[in-house]
Amino acid sequence: MGGTANGHPPGMTSLWLDRPVRSAYDDVAFGNVYDVVVVGAGLTGLVTAHLAAQSGKSVAVIEAREIGAVTTGNTTAKISLLQGTKLSSIASKHPRSAVRSYVDANRAGQSWLVDYCRSKGVAVQTETAYTYATTDTGLTSVRRELAVADTAGLPVFHTTESELPFDVMGAVGLAEQAQFDPLDALLALADDIRTSGGHISEHARVMSARHTRDGIRLTVPGGSIVGTRIVLATGTPILDRGLFFSRLEPLRSYAVAFEIDGPIPRGMYLSADSLSRSIRYAPTSDGERLLIGGNGHTVGRESSEQAQVDDLVDWTGTHFPGARVTHSWSAQDYESIDVLPYAGPLVPGDGFITVATGYDKWGMTAAVAAALHLDAASRGEKMPWSNCFALWNPRVLRGATSAIRMNGAVVKNMATGWVSALSKLGSTRRPAEGTGRVGGGILPRATCTVDGVTHDVSAVCPHLGGILRFNDAEKSWDCPLHGSRFAADGTVLEGPATHGLSSRDA
Ligand SMILES: Cc1cc2nc3c(=O)[nH]c(=O)nc-3n(C[C@H](O)[C@H](O)[C@H](O)COP(=O)(O)OP(=O)(O)OC[C@H]3O[C@@H](n4cnc5c(N)ncnc54)[C@H](O)[C@@H]3O)c2cc1C
Repeated sequence: MGGTANGHPPGMTSLWLDRPVRSAYDDVAFGNVYDVVVVGAGLTGLVTAHLAAQSGKSVAVIEAREIGAVTTGNTTAKISLLQGTKLSSIASKHPRSAVRSYVDANRAGQSWLVDYCRSKGVAVQTETAYTYATTDTGLTSVRRELAVADTAGLPVFHTTESELPFDVMGAVGLAEQAQFDPLDALLALADDIRTSGGHISEHARVMSARHTRDGIRLTVPGGSIVGTRIVLATGTPILDRGLFFSRLEPLRSYAVAFEIDGPIPRGMYLSADSLSRSIRYAPTSDGERLLIGGNGHTVGRESSEQAQVDDLVDWTGTHFPGARVTHSWSAQDYESIDVLPYAGPLVPGDGFITVATGYDKWGMTAAVAAALHLDAASRGEKMPWSNCFALWNPRVLRGATSAIRMNGAVVKNMATGWVSALSKLGSTRRPAEGTGRVGGGILPRATCTVDGVTHDVSAVCPHLGGILRFNDAEKSWDCPLHGSRFAADGTVLEGPATHGLSSRDA
């Protein structure tokens, strides 16, 4: 890979996922009954499975794609308790005790993960995290975050000094935070799960679940598996029974890795301004890289995703002249309507199927805390900070205003998508390479040309009927309603959908 900061970044593969091909894990005994079946092999799923396997349970992990293929393998991987302005946003909706529980939960997740990595020889860099401001508005946010974090017991400090190559008006800092390569940790966890007797199968997508006499039967293409306890660690929960999709906003954002000639800042930075920028360094076997992230938006609601990547590249070229792109990627995470994460039963009172979601781009600590919380709950115990994950309590209702706003946007996107699709007749012309279009009237089609092949699939999301939009950075079809995404040929990539798009010949 290579390219200059002013050119188009090649490919969309993260720094972490760019590694030699390995053979797929494939040793789950489908048809058997397991004590715990974990769906999803991101950080949530693998820590959950590891904890269950260590306590002597029979464990199966079922992964639709590959370990880390979705959000964990495409994160910026800061393991930090200073999380931009997250604590202020929790404080704006919840009492102080909730902020403290959130911090305590993340502290437990952070120390578990860092200790685990150190015990397995997974490299972790300890650095200071900063939330910085370049505008007056940002500075107000920085001061608020400083006050909230201080009250929550974090040893934060204020500074106006910075190693960044542009003016910073002020920053809140927290020393001794961490960063790593998340794939190294996931692969160590996968090895440990197998060593403790657990089983993992990749390339197996769970399509549905039903209660049976023996437990919960999950269906995968060509087979099924029964679990006494099921953990849906799928990012957004895949089974619609809990209506989680209506309480979560899927937020996609971008990251680019660069080779640069000068020194790379040591701190882990996140801007408090509306121009979001995440900055860190990353050691690689080819030398250090500068990582720049940002430009988040709701999935499927941008006119050009590629423009978001290009903007990050241009911004970096301005501040780090001569920076050369090595990797670019994007990913999505889910923000809950009341800004706290969820971990608990899929539906109230049914502890057999549990979910963990809503980390709002802070899952390196929150996902581990969610796994620790679910593990304790499976033994009928509670962590001292467990209430920050509590489901179905009145705090969910406190997010009602944002739910109405969010679901209003969903309805609007549903309507505009259909009106636009119905007004466009089908065309027999082949879309240009790397482009896609929706048309065809009452049965809308999504047609695109990628790598010389023209694909023609249904333009209707099988989850809840949204009209898909072409993502020009990743050459995918993205749903603006709840964040389901599909490859050019209609295969499911991520989100709440479990079925792909039907092709014209299907
Ligand atoms: C751009 C970006 C940057 C981020 N940076 C940071 C950061 O610096 N620090 C931080 O703390 N957090 C960060 N985050 C957030 C963090 O990466 C996530 O919160 C975390 O990785 C979520 O982990 P997960 O295991 O829940 O989900 P995932 O890693 O997405 O794992 C879910 C898995 O479930 C599988 N799956 C889905 N459906 C099915 C099915 N039907 N059957 C079988 N398997 C299925 C998927 O294929 C996937 O592998 C960032 C997020 C983004 C988007």
